[in-house]
Amino acid sequence: MQIHRDQIVAWLKAYANLLSEKKEYLTELDAAIGDADHGANMDRGFQAVMKKMDELSNQDIGTIFKTVGMTLLSTVGGAGGPLYATFFLQAGMKATGKMELSLAEWSAALEAAVNGVKMRGKAELGDKTMIDALVPAVQALKTAQENGTSLSEALQQCAHAAEEGMKATIPLVARKGRASYLGERSAGHQDPGATSSYYLLQTAADVWSA
Ligand code: ADP
Ligand code: MG
Repeated sequence: MQIHRDQIVAWLKAYANLLSEKKEYLTELDAAIGDADHGANMDRGFQAVMKKMDELSNQDIGTIFKTVGMTLLSTVGGAGGPLYATFFLQAGMKATGKMELSLAEWSAALEAAVNGVKMRGKAELGDKTMIDALVPAVQALKTAQENGTSLSEALQQCAHAAEEGMKATIPLVARKGRASYLGERSAGHQDPGATSSYYLLQTAADVWSA
């Protein structure tokens, strides 16, 4: 089983739609521990990506990912925008010229993407950021892939790990990003970036297993 370029396009479209739907909710999460713009930021970035989708949809996966990254970089400011841009730029490096990805290739691309976010943002697991959703997701996907788990089951395990990581941010005190300015008062709130990262991987599981 392979993830075809058209499924990559379908994933990005589904994620853009989900972000429009969850815009207010993500902004509410960011209002509690940040500056109430995460929903608007992500929605603006992915609407800009959608505008390029028609011309992009016949390109290879590497070109698609790199264009998503560049578009996010030029349309989304703040901390989240450049971090999601890095995610897609790094994933794109692993998918250069490819029209489809095996589970092993997707796993390697996701790992490179998340390592890029870690390097750029310098956040570690437990700092109450998107890393708390992404790192367990990478680990779950690698384990599933190495155990020969089916594509759809592996993607569900990946999304599930991201969801657990997202929920685990609630009691944490933020050590990176704007939320860290709140110190102890950041505890008791779910991190907005971990939430949008969970959505990204849940959408992949839903769209690619369908
Ligand atoms: P800003 O914080 O500039 O307003 P957003 O609201 O769009 O940007 O994004 C906030 C999210 O970015 C946080 O919820 C967190 O998950 C993520 N984030 C912030 N700083 C970092 C970092 N250094 N490393 C990883 N993720 C981070
Ligand atoms: Mg914000």
